[in-house]
Amino acid sequence: MAEHSQSWRQYLGVFRYSQRAIGLVWQTSKPLTLVLAGATLVAGLLPAAAAWVGQLIVDGVVAAIDANAGVPNALLWLVALEGGIIAGIAAAQRALQTAQSLLRAQLGQRVNVMILDKAQTLQLVDFEDSEFYDKLTRARREASTRPLSLVNRTFGLLQNGISLASFAGLLIGFSPWAVVILLAAGLPQFFSEAKFSGDAFRLFRWRSPDTRQQMYLETVLAREDSAKEVKLFELGPLLLDRYRGIFERLYKEDRNLTLRRETWGFILGLIATLAFYATYGWIVATTVAGAITLGQMTMYLVVFRQGQAAVSASLSAIGGMYEDNLYLSNLYEYLEQPVEASTGTLTQGTTPGDGLRFEKVSFRYPGSEVDALSQISFHLQPGHSLALVGENGSGKTTLIKLLAGLYKPYEGRVLLDGSSLQDWQPEALRRRIGIIFQDFMRYQLPVGENIGSGDIQHFSDEARWQKAAERGLAERFIEEIPGKYHAQLGRWFKDGRELSGGQWQKIAMARAFMRESADILVLDEPTAAMDAAAEAEIFAHFSELTKDRMAILISHRFSTVRIADEILVLENGRITEQGSHADLVAAGGKYATLFELQAAGYQ
Ligand code: ADP
Repeated sequence: MAEHSQSWRQYLGVFRYSQRAIGLVWQTSKPLTLVLAGATLVAGLLPAAAAWVGQLIVDGVVAAIDANAGVPNALLWLVALEGGIIAGIAAAQRALQTAQSLLRAQLGQRVNVMILDKAQTLQLVDFEDSEFYDKLTRARREASTRPLSLVNRTFGLLQNGISLASFAGLLIGFSPWAVVILLAAGLPQFFSEAKFSGDAFRLFRWRSPDTRQQMYLETVLAREDSAKEVKLFELGPLLLDRYRGIFERLYKEDRNLTLRRETWGFILGLIATLAFYATYGWIVATTVAGAITLGQMTMYLVVFRQGQAAVSASLSAIGGMYEDNLYLSNLYEYLEQPVEASTGTLTQGTTPGDGLRFEKVSFRYPGSEVDALSQISFHLQPGHSLALVGENGSGKTTLIKLLAGLYKPYEGRVLLDGSSLQDWQPEALRRRIGIIFQDFMRYQLPVGENIGSGDIQHFSDEARWQKAAERGLAERFIEEIPGKYHAQLGRWFKDGRELSGGQWQKIAMARAFMRESADILVLDEPTAAMDAAAEAEIFAHFSELTKDRMAILISHRFSTVRIADEILVLENGRITEQGSHADLVAAGGKYATLFELQAAGYQ
């Protein structure tokens, strides 16, 4: 019994999201929703009216033949009336289609904006969580068309429901049993539709990692930034094979489902046809027996046939709604994913001028078994610089991400001016930090905007672009590009120009200098791709560039590292050595060994 009610609830779940979808459509465009509703009502009622007039016409014709007195005017008026009704149905259908296609565009846009808006509120960790990323992908793939589809089907169901009620009203004059047959013959098809829709959704959901992989392969195979390697390493055929392999696997599942769905649909459809012809025979027999007129027979046949079409349209609408609901549940699951809202409100620390402190900070990536950082403590004062040194994977970038508030430590605190980063208002915190990541973005935007993106409040401020470019040593080569700050970068768009790695790095450097208010400057391998002259120049001015600021530097080059006031050596997420260059060399530890190794390489 419990199982029974469970499955009923499941079937009723069809309507769970209809209300929300209609709400969404209503907010998107009230006038269009009203047109949709009005046209639905009209399109629902008119077919029964047409059948009714049809009956009057046939009976009128029979009477006129019997009377043998020419064509009565009233009969011609009835014909005209039926024509008018049919035109009315056509008008209502057009109005429905028009409202639908206008709503489709608006609603698609609205839902996509909702999805992207939500993405802005997510934490970096969410993006790195593959399960959550799947939700996002699924939501983006389908959900922009699903809400309207659900609304269309809900209204379609309503329209067919209205038609059915009016048909039933006419048919009941023949026999209530005819109405029962009409409805019952459609039920088996409904259950099979609902079942297969559920299967289809589960398939869709379960395979979303595959779909994501497919999308990834598409990107690698057809994007300019991967083309070079794919060609030279001849990866194309291999990746394309994988791409095909995924398709074939997915296709096999799709095909099986489609075959089962259509076979059952056909078999169960036969029941409906059988019911129709049985009723047909019954109506014919009743007419011959003289119990109903010829006009009534015509009407009942039309009503029964159209009623059956309406039942099957309603059922497939319900099947489709079930599917839409499942997809929408995915959309709302994504939209309602709880985000950790920042509760910080401080725009100033409790001890301004204290600088940056890490107090026994530990951090572990979700799903990882070891700490990426453990027990990190240091203090960086304004006007000082700090360098992080360590092998790949020792935790340098993770430390920077914690400092920027992208991750939260699970133990210990990060303090800026005496207040924990969590207590800072996120915007106020970000304004204090200028950062270049090793994998900084190469925006397919003009040069100036690539620099301006470092400070959104001065995004289009040309004077600032220039000042920042000057500091990042990007000015000289930008002056040589035709179009200068307005030259399009990257290859995606017309007349785009590609830069060398070192030039891009100079742009990134300039971007970090855009934030004039930032007093924490973080440079993660900022000069790795620059030529030696450019690097020397940057570091010659380093202390001037970072005057009154806190600078944090990651580099594998000791010539760069040694200019920092303090150096932290990281190993497996722990600080193993700490001090100035001279201290560390004198201590004769790992730093000293590595330094000598590199210095020897240059001799
Ligand atoms: P570094 O910058 O010193 O090369 P990272 O801070 O990038 O090192 O990485 C430190 C450790 O954390 C490495 O073991 C790395 O595998 C792991 N790690 C880095 N980023 C992630 C991530 N997004 N998710 C899980 N583990 C990560």
